[in-house]
Amino acid sequence: MSRVPFVCGNWKLNKTIAEAVALANGVAAGAAQAPGVEVGVAPVSTALYPVAQALKSTSVLLGGQNCYHETSGAYTGEISPTFFKDVGCKFVIVGHSERRQLFGETDEGVNVKTRAVLDARLLPIVCVGETLAEREADRTMDVVGGQTRAALAGLTAAEIGSLVVAYEPVWAIGTGRTATTEQAQQVHADIRELLRDLAGDEADKVRIQYGGSVKPANAAALLGQPDIDGALVGGAALKTEDFVAIIKAAV
Ligand code: PEP
Repeated sequence: MSRVPFVCGNWKLNKTIAEAVALANGVAAGAAQAPGVEVGVAPVSTALYPVAQALKSTSVLLGGQNCYHETSGAYTGEISPTFFKDVGCKFVIVGHSERRQLFGETDEGVNVKTRAVLDARLLPIVCVGETLAEREADRTMDVVGGQTRAALAGLTAAEIGSLVVAYEPVWAIGTGRTATTEQAQQVHADIRELLRDLAGDEADKVRIQYGGSVKPANAAALLGQPDIDGALVGGAALKTEDFVAIIKAAV
């Protein structure tokens, strides 16, 4: 089955409003030259509205980096999928390893957030990935499989078929160390096998992004793998030329 590649920039806690709008304009211009690739950006929440305005008549999708699972109410400091939708978002990243490691996010928490994103009719990007110690102990698929099963618990096959999984080995995020194409493809194929177990043929629809020090120099090789359907990009998404080169590598 052919899946539309999805290349997404996670800007994390970077870029002022002016910088974010400039970067969004550059990304939109690059995306217009990359037919057949879906492109998304996830800015800091304070820049969402101006970036939404900048992207209005472009194909670039806007997304949130994290969300709260309740819709609205007395939850100081939180943003729910409903409010991300209100500002123009189409997707929300959930379970990023920085959320898990720095903010104590659990598998159960990722599951309720995934449910909330789907309930708001937005696209969840569900992040999973093992640490270096887990890989060295040969536990990669135990960990990645466990995170995936937990995140998707209670979802229907059709819901699973509609979402995006991002495989991001923790040891490759922001470290300059990338999984080899073979290492990445192997885990992506194993995740797809697990998805088949959970959702049957719907598994073939799931885009599985790779994330972890993706850059122009390694993007084409990674994106050329049969089960790698896009990229979730951190550092290299902050520079227009680098991110556009990665988008073009997905064509
Ligand atoms: C990420 O944080 O999702 C990521 C992949 O970061 P980087 O590309 O900087 O490794």
